[in-house]
Amino acid sequence: MAFERTLSILKPDATNRNLTGAINDRFEKGGLKIVAQKRLRLKRQEAERFYEIHAERPFYRDLVAFMTSGPVVVEVLEGEDAVSRLREIMGATDPEKAANGTIRKDFGLSIEKNSVHGSDSRENAQREIAFFFSEIEICP
Ligand code: ATP
Ligand code: MG
Repeated sequence: MAFERTLSILKPDATNRNLTGAINDRFEKGGLKIVAQKRLRLKRQEAERFYEIHAERPFYRDLVAFMTSGPVVVEVLEGEDAVSRLREIMGATDPEKAANGTIRKDFGLSIEKNSVHGSDSRENAQREIAFFFSEIEICP
Protein backbone atom coordinates (compact mmCIF):
# COMPACT_ATOMS: atom_id res chain seq x y z
CA MET A 1 0.00 0.00 0.00
CA ALA A 2 1.21 3.49 -0.77
CA PHE A 3 -0.30 6.83 0.14
CA GLU A 4 -0.64 8.62 -3.19
CA ARG A 5 -2.20 11.46 -5.12
CA THR A 6 -3.87 11.14 -8.49
CA LEU A 7 -5.70 13.43 -10.91
CA SER A 8 -9.30 13.13 -12.03
CA ILE A 9 -11.27 15.14 -14.57
CA LEU A 10 -15.05 15.14 -14.54
CA LYS A 11 -15.66 15.42 -18.29
CA PRO A 12 -18.14 17.68 -20.13
CA ASP A 13 -20.78 14.93 -20.43
CA ALA A 14 -20.81 14.77 -16.61
CA THR A 15 -20.85 18.52 -15.93
CA ASN A 16 -23.59 18.98 -18.57
CA ARG A 17 -25.80 16.46 -16.76
CA ASN A 18 -25.11 17.99 -13.31
CA LEU A 19 -23.37 14.83 -12.10
CA THR A 20 -20.39 16.38 -10.31
CA GLY A 21 -21.82 15.77 -6.84
CA ALA A 22 -22.84 12.20 -7.63
CA ILE A 23 -19.37 11.41 -8.98
CA ASN A 24 -17.59 13.09 -6.07
CA ASP A 25 -19.74 10.95 -3.76
CA ARG A 26 -18.34 7.82 -5.48
CA PHE A 27 -14.79 9.07 -4.93
CA GLU A 28 -15.38 9.81 -1.25
CA LYS A 29 -17.28 6.58 -0.55
CA GLY A 30 -14.45 4.76 -2.37
CA GLY A 31 -11.89 6.03 0.13
CA LEU A 32 -10.45 8.95 -1.82
CA LYS A 33 -10.23 12.47 -0.41
CA ILE A 34 -10.70 15.50 -2.69
CA VAL A 35 -7.75 17.70 -1.72
CA ALA A 36 -8.07 20.16 -4.62
CA GLN A 37 -10.87 20.95 -7.06
CA LYS A 38 -11.67 23.54 -9.72
CA ARG A 39 -14.11 23.96 -12.57
CA LEU A 40 -12.77 25.36 -15.84
CA ARG A 41 -13.16 25.22 -19.60
CA LEU A 42 -10.15 23.78 -21.41
CA LYS A 43 -8.84 25.69 -24.41
CA ARG A 44 -8.02 23.62 -27.47
CA GLN A 45 -4.26 23.96 -27.03
CA GLU A 46 -4.51 22.94 -23.38
CA ALA A 47 -6.51 19.81 -24.20
CA GLU A 48 -4.07 18.96 -27.00
CA ARG A 49 -1.15 19.26 -24.60
CA PHE A 50 -2.87 17.30 -21.82
CA TYR A 51 -3.63 14.42 -24.22
CA GLU A 52 -0.44 14.68 -26.31
CA ILE A 53 0.35 11.06 -25.32
CA HIS A 54 -2.60 10.10 -27.58
CA ALA A 55 -1.66 12.43 -30.47
CA GLU A 56 -1.22 9.56 -32.95
CA ARG A 57 -4.43 7.74 -31.96
CA PRO A 58 -7.37 7.95 -34.40
CA PHE A 59 -9.69 9.35 -31.71
CA TYR A 60 -7.34 12.23 -30.71
CA ARG A 61 -9.08 15.05 -32.62
CA ASP A 62 -12.54 14.00 -31.46
CA LEU A 63 -11.27 13.64 -27.88
CA VAL A 64 -9.85 17.19 -27.90
CA ALA A 65 -13.10 18.53 -29.40
CA PHE A 66 -15.16 16.74 -26.74
CA MET A 67 -12.96 17.83 -23.82
CA THR A 68 -13.25 21.48 -24.91
CA SER A 69 -17.02 21.30 -25.58
CA GLY A 70 -18.03 22.32 -22.05
CA PRO A 71 -16.78 22.81 -18.51
CA VAL A 72 -14.72 20.18 -16.70
CA VAL A 73 -13.93 19.76 -13.02
CA VAL A 74 -10.31 18.86 -12.31
CA GLU A 75 -9.47 17.31 -8.97
CA VAL A 76 -6.54 16.01 -6.97
CA LEU A 77 -7.53 12.89 -5.04
CA GLU A 78 -5.52 11.44 -2.19
CA GLY A 79 -5.56 8.07 -0.45
CA GLU A 80 -4.05 4.60 -0.20
CA ASP A 81 -3.09 3.41 -3.69
CA ALA A 82 -5.04 6.37 -5.06
CA VAL A 83 -3.94 5.80 -8.69
CA SER A 84 -5.23 2.23 -8.93
CA ARG A 85 -8.13 2.85 -6.54
CA LEU A 86 -9.46 5.63 -8.80
CA ARG A 87 -9.14 3.39 -11.87
CA GLU A 88 -11.20 0.71 -10.05
CA ILE A 89 -13.90 3.19 -9.04
CA MET A 90 -14.05 4.58 -12.63
CA GLY A 91 -14.26 1.21 -14.42
CA ALA A 92 -13.17 0.27 -17.94
CA THR A 93 -12.78 2.93 -20.66
CA ASP A 94 -15.84 1.62 -22.54
CA PRO A 95 -18.93 1.92 -20.30
CA GLU A 96 -20.37 -1.22 -21.94
CA LYS A 97 -17.39 -3.20 -20.63
CA ALA A 98 -17.18 -1.51 -17.23
CA ALA A 99 -18.02 -3.54 -14.11
CA ASN A 100 -21.28 -3.03 -12.24
CA GLY A 101 -21.16 -0.27 -9.66
CA THR A 102 -18.43 1.73 -11.41
CA ILE A 103 -18.83 5.36 -12.45
CA ARG A 104 -18.48 4.64 -16.16
CA LYS A 105 -20.99 1.77 -16.01
CA ASP A 106 -23.54 3.91 -14.20
CA PHE A 107 -22.99 7.31 -15.84
CA GLY A 108 -20.91 6.85 -19.03
CA LEU A 109 -22.64 7.45 -22.37
CA SER A 110 -20.03 6.02 -24.78
CA ILE A 111 -16.34 5.11 -25.02
CA GLU A 112 -15.65 8.82 -25.61
CA LYS A 113 -18.25 10.38 -23.30
CA ASN A 114 -17.25 8.22 -20.36
CA SER A 115 -17.70 10.89 -17.65
CA VAL A 116 -14.31 10.71 -15.89
CA HIS A 117 -10.57 10.70 -16.43
CA GLY A 118 -8.06 9.17 -14.04
CA SER A 119 -4.27 9.14 -14.22
CA ASP A 120 -2.96 5.72 -15.28
CA SER A 121 0.36 5.65 -13.35
CA ARG A 122 2.11 7.44 -10.49
CA GLU A 123 4.39 9.19 -12.97
CA ASN A 124 1.49 10.43 -15.10
CA ALA A 125 -0.38 11.47 -11.95
CA GLN A 126 2.51 13.74 -10.97
CA ARG A 127 2.65 15.24 -14.47
CA GLU A 128 -1.12 15.73 -14.66
CA ILE A 129 -1.43 17.25 -11.17
CA ALA A 130 1.35 19.73 -12.00
CA PHE A 131 -0.45 20.53 -15.28
CA PHE A 132 -3.45 21.94 -13.39
CA PHE A 133 -2.39 22.76 -9.83
CA SER A 134 0.37 24.43 -7.90
CA GLU A 135 1.26 23.00 -4.49
CA ILE A 136 -0.41 25.90 -2.68
CA GLU A 137 -3.79 24.94 -4.22
CA ILE A 138 -3.64 21.41 -2.77
CA CYS A 139 -4.93 21.20 0.80
CA PRO A 140 -4.91 17.71 2.37
P1 ATP B 1 -8.82 8.41 -19.32
O1 ATP B 1 -7.43 8.68 -19.81
O2 ATP B 1 -9.83 9.46 -19.77
O3 ATP B 1 -8.87 8.14 -17.85
P2 ATP B 1 -8.59 5.68 -20.13
O4 ATP B 1 -7.23 5.76 -19.52
O5 ATP B 1 -9.52 4.63 -19.66
O6 ATP B 1 -9.33 7.08 -20.00
P3 ATP B 1 -7.33 6.09 -22.69
O7 ATP B 1 -6.91 4.96 -23.54
O8 ATP B 1 -6.28 6.85 -21.92
O9 ATP B 1 -8.46 5.56 -21.70
O10 ATP B 1 -8.15 7.09 -23.61
C1 ATP B 1 -8.36 8.44 -23.19
C2 ATP B 1 -9.77 8.83 -23.53
O11 ATP B 1 -9.91 8.85 -24.95
C3 ATP B 1 -10.87 7.87 -23.04
O12 ATP B 1 -11.27 8.10 -21.72
C4 ATP B 1 -11.98 8.19 -24.00
O13 ATP B 1 -12.66 9.40 -23.61
C5 ATP B 1 -11.23 8.43 -25.30
N1 ATP B 1 -11.13 7.20 -26.09
C6 ATP B 1 -10.35 6.12 -25.84
N2 ATP B 1 -10.50 5.17 -26.76
C7 ATP B 1 -11.42 5.66 -27.64
C8 ATP B 1 -12.02 5.16 -28.82
N3 ATP B 1 -11.70 3.96 -29.32
N4 ATP B 1 -12.91 5.97 -29.46
C9 ATP B 1 -13.22 7.19 -28.98
N5 ATP B 1 -12.70 7.71 -27.87
C10 ATP B 1 -11.81 6.96 -27.20
MG1 MG C 1 -5.84 7.32 -19.95
